Amino acid sequence: METKYIFVTGGVVSSLGKGIISASIGKLLQARGYKVTIQKFDPYINIDPGTLNPYEHGECYVTADGFETDLDLGHYERFTGIHTTRNNSITTGRIYKTVIDRERHGDYLGKTIQVVPHITDEIKHRMLRERPRVGGGTPGMGLDEGFDFIITEVGGTIGDIESAPFMEAIRQLRYQLGRNAVCVHLTYVPYLKAADELKTKPTQHSVKELQGMGIQPDILVLRTERHLDDTMRMKVASFCNVDLECVVQSEDLPSIYEVPVNMQHQGLDAAIMRKIGIPVGETPAMKPWRDFLDKQRNATREVHIGLVGKYDLQDAYKSIRESLNLAGIYNDVKARLHFVNSEEITKQNVAEKLKGLAGVVICPGFGSRGIEGKIIAAEYTRTNDIPTFGICLGMQMMVIEFARNVLGYTDANSMEFATNTQHPSPTTQHPVIDMMEEQKTITEMGGTMRLGAYECELVKGSRAYEAYGGETLIKERHRHRYEFNNQYQKQYEAAGMKCVGINPDANLVEIVEIPEKRWYIGTQFHPEYSSTVLNPHPLFMSFIGECKN
Ligand code: GLN
Repeated sequence: METKYIFVTGGVVSSLGKGIISASIGKLLQARGYKVTIQKFDPYINIDPGTLNPYEHGECYVTADGFETDLDLGHYERFTGIHTTRNNSITTGRIYKTVIDRERHGDYLGKTIQVVPHITDEIKHRMLRERPRVGGGTPGMGLDEGFDFIITEVGGTIGDIESAPFMEAIRQLRYQLGRNAVCVHLTYVPYLKAADELKTKPTQHSVKELQGMGIQPDILVLRTERHLDDTMRMKVASFCNVDLECVVQSEDLPSIYEVPVNMQHQGLDAAIMRKIGIPVGETPAMKPWRDFLDKQRNATREVHIGLVGKYDLQDAYKSIRESLNLAGIYNDVKARLHFVNSEEITKQNVAEKLKGLAGVVICPGFGSRGIEGKIIAAEYTRTNDIPTFGICLGMQMMVIEFARNVLGYTDANSMEFATNTQHPSPTTQHPVIDMMEEQKTITEMGGTMRLGAYECELVKGSRAYEAYGGETLIKERHRHRYEFNNQYQKQYEAAGMKCVGINPDANLVEIVEIPEKRWYIGTQFHPEYSSTVLNPHPLFMSFIGECKN
């Protein structure tokens, strides 16, 4: 089958859940047996979100091939189970960089480089995932990927100045691809309490704006907090030149995982196929997904889990939250997550702050803000034997805490915090977390960490080994510059903290645990990036399994 392209845009307001709708479309088409990928185009100028503060765009998601991406790629992977790559997350910055590098290389000699056609051509090239061109392009891109459907979500809202080149590229592609392209536009239908009415005018305006750019949407997905009746849908259909069956509503649901079946119920996937001209056939049963939803509905017993971190923002620890939720559901419980701000944790109040929690996750992060609180939390949960899961910086905090309070190195620290511009020589005698050798000469900040999937060998008989169901070689994704300092390994092991996961090539410690505790494990890698709806991550499963006891 020739590759088909679905473009997903959004209007009226941001945060409508375009990522969830894109992921749901991917899931539904996948359930029909198609090979699908989903990509995100973000209009900002950063090359990737790796250097962005989570307050700006939430969590930075990392692909297996080591690219720092938008958190929507997390939704795509969790919903569909596919692995995305660096080709699935593109920004304006990357587009411009490619074009400018090519200009400097002399590839356009004699020509004026302009937004149209040079920038829009590069956008189209990447939307189509064509082979690299001579003298430029990204290795690994290619039509030979064999996708039946490529879903492209464009970040931002229609009318934003910075998304204009993306819209122009979509306009051109629609013309070029004919029926092989479908445009799905997501809008918002507000409810006005005083008038007791749902209002479709913003949707009409948003579609007009899109039409003004030469794009006629094929399908409208209306986000709404209240049910829209047929009259309402009919009104939207006639004002916007869209078939009635192509006006779909996305009501607030108790869980984002209900969205695909809700979309299927309204025939969103069937509408897309009809537009393209492929026979719709039978509606897939989606049995594993529906079984999961049943489990979710039945998992009502609550287990309270603390997230010790510094970002008081839902999206900052998105993948960790989802991994805990999913592991809860498969453990037949509802994981109730409580954010605990590590900046506010002191030795005096830690018992109060962590009161009533069945387990604690010590979150990843960068920089010194809030780290002492994480160390205090790690000490409290270790000494009170509360199940604890340290992830990346969280694991490093467990290691520092153990050095200070068990090994007796009271000044133990990570070199991330023991040096700064005022103190170029380390303020610690015991850098139990040290910078990786390969990182020492790096000066550029963007995309230079240890990123992506690396192998890890598990020590037989360890808690981690058991959690992974007896596998000895696993692969997990990373995003860090610092690591466990192997010079201290013997002391740690002798005192009871074991190094039970080792990278076989670089000999880096990837997992530590205290076997005598109920569940006290820290991982240098980020297991949360590879937890999916149908395959919850084994470490989260094992963690919640212990917390619910
Ligand atoms: N800041 C730490 C490092 O660079 C941990 C990073 C993280 O938690 N992702 O090693």
